[in-house]
Amino acid sequence: MSGTGTSSSGVSSSGVSSTNASSTNASSSETAAEHATAGRLLVSAGRALVAAGLSPGSSGNVSVRDGDRLLMTGTGTQLGDLALADLSVLDLAGTHLGGPAPSKEVALHLAMYAKDPAHTAVVHVHSPSAVALSCLEPWSAHSAVPPLTPYSLMRVGQVPLLPFVAPGDPAMGALVGDSPLPFRAALLSNHGAVVSGEDLDRAVQSTIELEEACRIALLTQGAARRLIAADQVRAITAAWGMPWTGPADEAGASSAAVSAGVSPAAGADTGN
Ligand SMILES: [Zn+2]
Repeated sequence: MSGTGTSSSGVSSSGVSSTNASSTNASSSETAAEHATAGRLLVSAGRALVAAGLSPGSSGNVSVRDGDRLLMTGTGTQLGDLALADLSVLDLAGTHLGGPAPSKEVALHLAMYAKDPAHTAVVHVHSPSAVALSCLEPWSAHSAVPPLTPYSLMRVGQVPLLPFVAPGDPAMGALVGDSPLPFRAALLSNHGAVVSGEDLDRAVQSTIELEEACRIALLTQGAARRLIAADQVRAITAAWGMPWTGPADEAGASSAAVSAGVSPAAGADTGN
């Protein structure tokens, strides 16, 4: 937290200093209880992320859009042990309307919503494999995650690596907003992952799939691995409506070459 100064409004929100410049006064305070359905989904999403091992310590934050409001986990909250009272209420410009101070990653969340207005949920995690892969050079300019299995292609598509800025730096939002690449998930250099989705369930499931894809990428790092052929990657992502901007001649085995028997066993006369 930047922790600069105290609230000029004199209104404290449960004793937590807000990092949001436009915190509200008590007369307009909203609570997550007014958005209980969305709030309960967010509480469940937090538990699911912890159960999947994606929230070491108290890391990670989640938000969900309910009409013209956002519910967001408060700063420093445990994702596995959330209650409605732990959720901040914001408008779509990020103005804090009620509840505890929101996660310091507000700008990151807002930028993901702006990138795809059809999306109503954003998940940010420090899951181990995503963090590890975020510390390596990206596989390509458009995706840090190579196309090794179909599942991440079906759920998230390409996952670009965004440059490093300190956690909580509002510049994180600009990195998302300024990227010319389409994506619904990105790795944040030396930090973690951010994923958006049409709803919370899809965002959570995509986050789990992304973590698995990062784990497989790490397990196969340095090995003579075979990638899914570029034409097949493009066909899969197109069929599932997932972003992929890799060129047709992108590095990796060509499906034509594989089916023509170029792989070591297929073309060989075993003679036994
Ligand atoms: Zn973070």
